[in-house]
Amino acid sequence: MARVVVVGAGVGGLVAAVRLAAQGHRVELCEAADRVGGKLGGQVLDTADGRFRFDTGPTLLTLPQVFEDVFAGTGRPLSETVDLRRLDIIAHYRFADGTEVETVSDQVEQRRRFDASFGSGTGAAWQRVVDRGRDIWTAVEEPVFGRALSGRSVLSLGRRLARLQDLRAVAPHRTLHGLAAQLLPDRRQRWMLERYATYEGSDPRRAPAALAVVPYLEHRFGAWHVGGGLHRLADALADRFTELGGTLRLGSRVRRIAGNGRVTHVECDDGTRLPADVVVSDVDAHALYGELHRTRRRVPPADSLAGFVVLLAVRDPLPGLGHHTVFFGGHPYGDEFDAVFGERTGPRRRGPGRPVPDPVVYLDAPRDPALAPPGTRGVYLLVNAPRHGRDGGPGTVDWTRTGLAERYADQVLALLAGRGLDLRPHVVARAVRTPADLERETGAPGGAIYGQVQHGPLATVLRAHNRARTRGLFLVGGSTHPGGGLPLVALSARAVAAEIGPA
Ligand SMILES: Cc1cc2nc3c(=O)[nH]c(=O)nc-3n(C[C@H](O)[C@H](O)[C@H](O)COP(=O)(O)OP(=O)(O)OC[C@H]3O[C@@H](n4cnc5c(N)ncnc54)[C@H](O)[C@@H]3O)c2cc1C
Repeated sequence: MARVVVVGAGVGGLVAAVRLAAQGHRVELCEAADRVGGKLGGQVLDTADGRFRFDTGPTLLTLPQVFEDVFAGTGRPLSETVDLRRLDIIAHYRFADGTEVETVSDQVEQRRRFDASFGSGTGAAWQRVVDRGRDIWTAVEEPVFGRALSGRSVLSLGRRLARLQDLRAVAPHRTLHGLAAQLLPDRRQRWMLERYATYEGSDPRRAPAALAVVPYLEHRFGAWHVGGGLHRLADALADRFTELGGTLRLGSRVRRIAGNGRVTHVECDDGTRLPADVVVSDVDAHALYGELHRTRRRVPPADSLAGFVVLLAVRDPLPGLGHHTVFFGGHPYGDEFDAVFGERTGPRRRGPGRPVPDPVVYLDAPRDPALAPPGTRGVYLLVNAPRHGRDGGPGTVDWTRTGLAERYADQVLALLAGRGLDLRPHVVARAVRTPADLERETGAPGGAIYGQVQHGPLATVLRAHNRARTRGLFLVGGSTHPGGGLPLVALSARAVAAEIGPA
């Protein structure tokens, strides 16, 4: 039995802690905040109409089998632990020209809907994207998502992906934007595909075409909601961990992971010293190597896009509004990423970011009685945003500037009204969450949602490795291999737990 300390109770840390406790290790989980979940958070708004509960981070669960595997392998199955619901409609897309389409899992129905909304042939074109996504998944599922990345495994991963058939599917030198231009004559569908780059915090003009795997996964395995909010999943993981005998230390910030060549112990801000044979870090990888465990190893700083979130308590059940709606604006989609990552000022230089003037607005409005009083609805709006930074650095905005957040929230609501959904007369309370808030609450540098961007053909193998050079130190979470988003961070934890092995 190893003495394991897990640093950070984000989803990666929680899944690692659960798996390692189930594998028979003695596990302590240190979390700086007074709640578990990290970016998978929730918030309550109390109003005259009653209590509204919101998710503040993830609102869409994909690949639920990754979590089913965690729960089934460690005790009661997921279906008996949280109320998991598959959505009939994955998302409703609305465009500035008044056209709209819904995405669904069934492919025949999907083709029919595209042809009806965008014209004959657009269904077949989208099917080509889904087929390509299936080929990518076949190529990457096991070598990329099934294993931890370490100095040793990079080469075998490179060799595996270099097999001709896989190379053709993954097309490492092609961008998602390029793939969209190749497969989709219709501009609206191109934007729909390009938007999946943001699921890894990236610019579709620089993100690899391999991200076309995401729409395939949505169609194949569905989009899911958790009754009471997705953040319930974090609580369920924490419960499972303590049921297995693990020790959860909330409000326990780790300031140092000690050990030269091999980890020895962890030191907390309050002076507590926890001896450890193994440490699993769920902290941003750049912060880990720069602050908690200084070594010569360096990983690039987190530079993925951030998010600007508006939570609205709405006195109206909004019967015509589905669960997920994506509202595209009228400007070229690329403008959004110039604002978020900063305009080019030289071949390798970018200027400061700016709040996107005409952003795509993503809306989540679950019909879930556990979340809002009868006759009302909780609405969550998310737009892509530059990271927070006080110094006007590339691709950043100082989100703490007086009045900026509230003004921008007003702007987003006005834009939405211009796109056909005026929520303003019905709002009884609202809360605004900027990238600066996410940084303060979860330690995400600048509020970056997904750690490092996935830009360029080597993006996958350039992410921080899961096994550090210091023996006994492992990395999980969105800033490490294989990437951000709930299923991927859970897969990073599965791979690390497998490397550590049973007690
Ligand atoms: C607005 C938003 C929308 C999103 N939407 C989706 C979505 O729809 N679907 C999806 O799959 N994903 C989505 N994501 C991404 C998803 O939330 C993340 O990829 C995932 O939750 C990250 O998990 P993690 O393991 O990297 O840990 P994090 O959530 O980054 O948590 C790290 C934890 O470590 C703690 N910590 C940091 N430093 C220390 C220290 N020194 N000592 C102790 N503890 C420390 C922090 O307090 C935090 O709790 C979204 C994220 C955001 C912010």
